[in-house]
Amino acid sequence: MALIVQKYGGSSVGSLDRIHHVAQKVIKAKDEGHHVIVVVSAMYGETDRLIRLANALTQDHDPREYDVLISSGEQVSMALLSMALNAKNYPARSFTGPQIGIYTDNIHTKARILEVKTDIIQRELTQGRIVVIAGFQGVNVNGDITTLGRGGSDTTAVAIAAALKADECQIYTDVDGVYTTDPHFLPEARLIPQISFEEMLELSSLGARVLQIRSVELASKHNMPIRVLSTFSEGNGTLVTLEDKTMRKRLVSGIAFSAEEAIISLSGVPRKLGVEGHILSKVSEANIEIDMIAQNASIEEKSDFTFTVHRREYAKAMKVVEELATELGSITIKTNAKVAKLSLVGIGMRSNTGIASTMFKALGVEGINIQMITTSEIKISVVLDETHLKRGVEAIHRAFELDKPLDAINPPIFE
Ligand code: ADP
Ligand code: ASP
Ligand code: MG
Repeated sequence: MALIVQKYGGSSVGSLDRIHHVAQKVIKAKDEGHHVIVVVSAMYGETDRLIRLANALTQDHDPREYDVLISSGEQVSMALLSMALNAKNYPARSFTGPQIGIYTDNIHTKARILEVKTDIIQRELTQGRIVVIAGFQGVNVNGDITTLGRGGSDTTAVAIAAALKADECQIYTDVDGVYTTDPHFLPEARLIPQISFEEMLELSSLGARVLQIRSVELASKHNMPIRVLSTFSEGNGTLVTLEDKTMRKRLVSGIAFSAEEAIISLSGVPRKLGVEGHILSKVSEANIEIDMIAQNASIEEKSDFTFTVHRREYAKAMKVVEELATELGSITIKTNAKVAKLSLVGIGMRSNTGIASTMFKALGVEGINIQMITTSEIKISVVLDETHLKRGVEAIHRAFELDKPLDAINPPIFE
């Protein structure tokens, strides 16, 4: 008898028909003799609807009440799934995150899980019931509801699986697993049968929303493998696990992208000690997350300082930068709010030097200009005009033969 945690995302529970379908899948696991814990997201579109309601009411919401509101979608789906299971004579009980005892810090809307209690879950399982838990939520030390950031039900599932030392953590979604790039964006994308935590962490942090980044961090920390599967078709999906020497893999695993970036460039910044730190601290004081940073000396005593932010933070960032320009004097601000970031991820980059040049050449052949570049050990990111994103992803996907089956690649595989 295994202990299995299954998580179903928003589109998997998007209608009553789909909830019935999910109930059948849960029942199948139960009939195989396993203990089953199910984590559910809100029905498709519901969290967005709740966010729109809050924003329509006020732009300046109380974070505590905002979390009470946006966590409510999961309570609906957990009750419906539990009712569907009970109606099929499979005893089930649903619980919210706070009821189970998912304790978090106080950071509303992006709280981190500090502790997961397992006593209620254990009690229910011992009594033969299926446990259905609302994803995306927890409770802080004051007893207030918190939420875990968009996509946070993945993290709930991994946290519960890790706390219970589950045999499997299955994340069911609307695609067959993790692909070489978003299969809804590029139909030639291929399923990746197995991927390391490290590469998945990069893909998630660079825009592949199939797994929330924190769920991968947590899984890696507790060495809890995740299997990403489709709710709607059979298959083995993708196993996200520790790097394994026998894993057959490519030099590069996949391409992630973020379509809504903005680039802000300050030229003529006086070259005095600490000026970069000053600029960055002003931006972060305004709670704006900076993504990429580049600095280069232009003319004597002056330098150019360029950074990117998510487009939703562009207006806020511009306000700070305009204040800085007044303070530092003689600065020219150049911006482009219509850029996208494209990133190539692969463990093979550690030992192979030709990857960046292949990537840049592929973009060059397409006549695509690179506006900014950053690299780390296993990824290369470039910023491009947003209108070039699709062609850029296609070109790089082809250049690294990501559209070909693993066996057909030449030169073959990074061992
Ligand atoms: P859920 O509601 O089940 O949590 P999400 O919408 O959060 O589903 O995540 C699944 C989506 O992630 C897919 O529909 C796909 O469009 C997108 N996605 C982005 N990058 C990838 C990738 N590399 N592999 C698979 N899916 C991806
Ligand atoms: N319902 C939440 C969201 O839409 C959490 C999740 O789906 O994982 O972000
Ligand atoms: Mg998700």
